[in-house]
Amino acid sequence: MGICPICKTGRIVDKGKFYGCTNYKATDPCTFSLPKKWSEKSLGKTAIKDLITKGETSKLKGFKSKKTGKKFDAKLTIKEGKLSFDFG
Ligand SMILES: [Zn+2]
Repeated sequence: MGICPICKTGRIVDKGKFYGCTNYKATDPCTFSLPKKWSEKSLGKTAIKDLITKGETSKLKGFKSKKTGKKFDAKLTIKEGKLSFDFG
């Protein structure tokens, strides 16, 4: 998929249920991973590539809130190595 944005040396590969860094078994392991599904929405390859290369996606539709059950649109960003929403 692309170079890992956290360790900058590993690559992000498809690990079945999620995407993860090839350096996860390295001496200094990198545990960065991205889910294939987030808030009820499947994340496409374009979204994953955007996250890896730009650190954010364009606005994505069809997320579903666990609290309210309502659907919403949002961007995804990587903050401190973790996937999060950006409603800005
Ligand atoms: Zn990495």
